[in-house]
Amino acid sequence: ERQKLARLRRLPAITADGQTVELQANMEIPAELPLVAQAGAAGIGLLRSEFLFMNRETLPDEQAQTETYRTIIEAMAGDPVTIRVLDWSGEKDIEALQSEGVVPEVGEQNPALGLRGIRLLLRRPELFETQLAAILRAATAGPTRVLLPMVTTVGEVRAAREVYERVVRRLRRRGERLPDPIPPLGIMIETPGAALSADALALEADFFAIGTNDLTMYTLAVDRSESDVASLYDPLHPAVLRLVQFATEAALRIRKPVSVCGELAANPRLTPLLLGLGLRSFSMNASAVPRVKQAVRAVSIDDCARFARRVMEQSDPVKIQALVMGAGEAAE
Ligand code: PEP
Ligand code: MG
Repeated sequence: ERQKLARLRRLPAITADGQTVELQANMEIPAELPLVAQAGAAGIGLLRSEFLFMNRETLPDEQAQTETYRTIIEAMAGDPVTIRVLDWSGEKDIEALQSEGVVPEVGEQNPALGLRGIRLLLRRPELFETQLAAILRAATAGPTRVLLPMVTTVGEVRAAREVYERVVRRLRRRGERLPDPIPPLGIMIETPGAALSADALALEADFFAIGTNDLTMYTLAVDRSESDVASLYDPLHPAVLRLVQFATEAALRIRKPVSVCGELAANPRLTPLLLGLGLRSFSMNASAVPRVKQAVRAVSIDDCARFARRVMEQSDPVKIQALVMGAGEAAE
């Protein structure tokens, strides 16, 4: 079994009927780079940049950030790297942000609904600009994309793009070498608000990354770290799947790239459903890539589309579970 999965590393992620699928890795710390290579992932679909700000007393400056991003982009040797800008939230204890007065000292009553992700970055333009400048400079080393966390309105995307363009102009004036083209600016779809306005957001963003972890939490109003309600946390709930479908179709309609980078993408039993919804790009824990590749290679798009239609007709989570688990077994 292990040998079989190891052999998969060199095989392409392509369905039985010849559709190419992009399988990438999520990454939290650079120490995971060897795992990404081993897993046969075609790039990094989600680099959570929080690690850069953790376990230190001061904020990393532009030069330090540039070097870290460049190391990662170079290590991917031409495969794309999607860097998500800082996704701070009140429950994440990042000392440097506190000691430098970047985040409020008094904790929020409800951090999940507070000043998190893009909201903080737009309030702290110096922090945002420094990170964007570092990403832009590092991006001369290979294909790069910039991803905004926790977007809920088109206004945030417009405001973020203004900052991004300002940073480009500033670097140009400084005489820095810039990547050509300038890396696309995309957004996470991880709140019901974003998913349901995906048609409008698709006009403003260069790409979507659907984050099913937060999307599930916000849609079902369940914090999965609270054990009393954890059993209600169900990414296969029809409400979550309908949001994924709506956002995917909004992107595909105007030919904007769309991927799934939440845990949903890491489960090979869900691969037929996601392919059937029209998705062709997934990012997951590196260790999950071989099994998902195996699932991709076992199915044809027609069968997946038929299967997805059957699933999406259901409104009972129990029936959806049963369908998905059954299809998974058939594919194995
Ligand atoms: C998500 O919310 O699904 C996601 C991928 O982001 P994170 O897990 O980092 O919150
Ligand atoms: Mg998230």
